[in-house]
Amino acid sequence: MKAFQVRAPFEFGLAEVDGPQVARGEVQVDVAYAGICGSDMHIIHGQNAFVRFPRVTGHEFSGVIRQVGEGVEHLQVGDRVCVDPVISCGTCYPCRIGRPNVCTRLQVIGVHRDGGFSEQVCVPAENAHRLPDSMSLSHGALVEPYSIALNVLDRMQPHPGDSVLIYGAGVIGLTLVQMARALGLTDITVTDVIDSRLETARALGASRTLNGQQVDVESTMRELTQGEGVPLIVDAACIPALMPQMVRLASPAGRIGLLGFNATPSDLVQLEMIKKELTLVGSRLNNRKFPRVIELIASGQLQVQDLISHRVTFDEMPGAIDLIEKHPEQTRKVLVELTNAHH
Ligand SMILES: [Zn+2]
Ligand SMILES: [Zn+2]
Repeated sequence: MKAFQVRAPFEFGLAEVDGPQVARGEVQVDVAYAGICGSDMHIIHGQNAFVRFPRVTGHEFSGVIRQVGEGVEHLQVGDRVCVDPVISCGTCYPCRIGRPNVCTRLQVIGVHRDGGFSEQVCVPAENAHRLPDSMSLSHGALVEPYSIALNVLDRMQPHPGDSVLIYGAGVIGLTLVQMARALGLTDITVTDVIDSRLETARALGASRTLNGQQVDVESTMRELTQGEGVPLIVDAACIPALMPQMVRLASPAGRIGLLGFNATPSDLVQLEMIKKELTLVGSRLNNRKFPRVIELIASGQLQVQDLISHRVTFDEMPGAIDLIEKHPEQTRKVLVELTNAHH
């Protein structure tokens, strides 16, 4: 079968690989659609320490069940599904307290084991979520990026009426705008340095946008909140140097959600955090958010269509990687249609 394989950093392409064998408790999925993510790009660049090469990447995908392994009761051949990439052990400390997405033996499909840029892939049956009839397979492939947004917002415990400031209007920033709206938040500010991205953020529900190269984000937000600061701040720009500003801008009792995977230290002031009793939460992947995201998409509360900027065939995928590399500002979510897309 055909798969998109990263053989070594910067060495990638479509390859003919052996088809996977379905094991007990697993299902084999004919992949229909798979989204290209910033973290796939990190793997290609050799920036993900968890990856052993060669690796078939892809952790945002949907498809149709081709084969069901022994012991699988709740799924059948022909079921349309999307796949939660988080595989956890169930016995370590975080698993025992209900935090399987930070399992000490965490396995992420498409990172630690082969993923969705492949004609077929085998996954644990519990990771496959059936799509309602009203939901398309292409939208199914986008459940994962929305699960990132829902996870961090849930971690931040929004109160009705809270205003939210989102750093970064890339794909994650845009899913955050839509998710914040779906959760009932209405005062949503987004900051970025690319105007076209900010325009999209407004189209998807941001109340206002600030280009950080044209305005002083800190003084503008301070003015807008009459000096009180912002209760909810999400870092989807993943720039450690911005963290001190977030801490300064947070209101007393504010919550800051962090999504970056950057190892650069940043200077935070203890006094600011204690005086205002701030909560800084890290958020990794998602903690069983797929059922709620599927519900939100199926009921039309997320504008999934507007997240997609390009649809390419599997053969066009290496070219699409090149486009993302050279012109990131021209792309939002690039969706790959695999050969099995027309079920
Ligand atoms: Zn992703
Ligand atoms: Zn575990």
